[in-house]
Amino acid sequence: MVRINPEKCRACGVCLDYCPLEAISLVPSGPAADVFSETTVVREPSGGSPGKEFREVTAGEQGGVVLFLTAGPLPDTSRQLRSRVAYIDPSLCVQCWVCLRQRVCSFGAIEATFPEDFYHLFQHVISDPVETTAETGVPGRGTEEAKTNDVSGRYRRGEVGVAIDMGRPGLGCRLRDVEKVAMAVAAAGLVLEGPEHTPLAKLMADLKTGRIQEASRDLRVLSVIIEGKCSEGKLPAVLTALRRVETEIETVFTLGLVSRVEADGTAPLLAILERLGFPRPLRGKVNVGLGRPPAAET
Ligand code: SF4
Ligand code: SF4
Repeated sequence: MVRINPEKCRACGVCLDYCPLEAISLVPSGPAADVFSETTVVREPSGGSPGKEFREVTAGEQGGVVLFLTAGPLPDTSRQLRSRVAYIDPSLCVQCWVCLRQRVCSFGAIEATFPEDFYHLFQHVISDPVETTAETGVPGRGTEEAKTNDVSGRYRRGEVGVAIDMGRPGLGCRLRDVEKVAMAVAAAGLVLEGPEHTPLAKLMADLKTGRIQEASRDLRVLSVIIEGKCSEGKLPAVLTALRRVETEIETVFTLGLVSRVEADGTAPLLAILERLGFPRPLRGKVNVGLGRPPAAET
């Protein structure tokens, strides 16, 4: 878990710009007297009357805004500023560790603690692109998805691999929305992948229905992939279910499909998409072996 040490934070606000989920904010940190000391000095303010009496307010031990000059009582804004501290909202933070990894705090106030349970460990590993998922051995979001089908052979002729890529930096997604989508496509005939292929399976209470363990539903992650496969015959039902459920969630997803190409270069998948009124995909990928022998054709 990442947290901000209020004893070290100087409320400079630099870290706020680095968080892709806007989970960090400056919040009141307590009585102003705890934070600042005030002295009265005589200064010549720029553009002000020479010799006017000013109060100089400097940060105390606990940090805050370094200096205020004011001729009278401190204005409300300075009262707010002088007692602020950075805070990470745990309901918004996805534990991506961007703020920590990039060493954005010059005062060392951003600190890591060990995740409190399996669910928070999952949240961190899936949201931090430099972490590797132990079960699959794949960095990033822990899965090769359908992209290596030429060497893995997960999807055979007549089958379609489906990867629903939930959430994005700047938006993230809650696992309860992931569950809604997973349950909708599973009910329509998508067979969800197991933990040997995809990290999300570790959170499933029921892999057949796509139900996710209750304790993890409120967690937010940067992005996670729902993976599965179905026959070409069931694909229309799966895509229709996706169209229906997309209006019920508070995030975005992208859809990836993989199928084998026929010897004559045609792809039956494209004809199915056309019949359903999906625009022809503008972007595609063809892998060429990744140094491993091609999967046997069956
Ligand atoms: S945590 Fe560090 S970077 Fe963020 S506001 Fe506090 S002092 Fe500034
Ligand atoms: S860990 Fe990521 S989401 Fe959480 S506060 Fe840091 S940058 Fe923001």
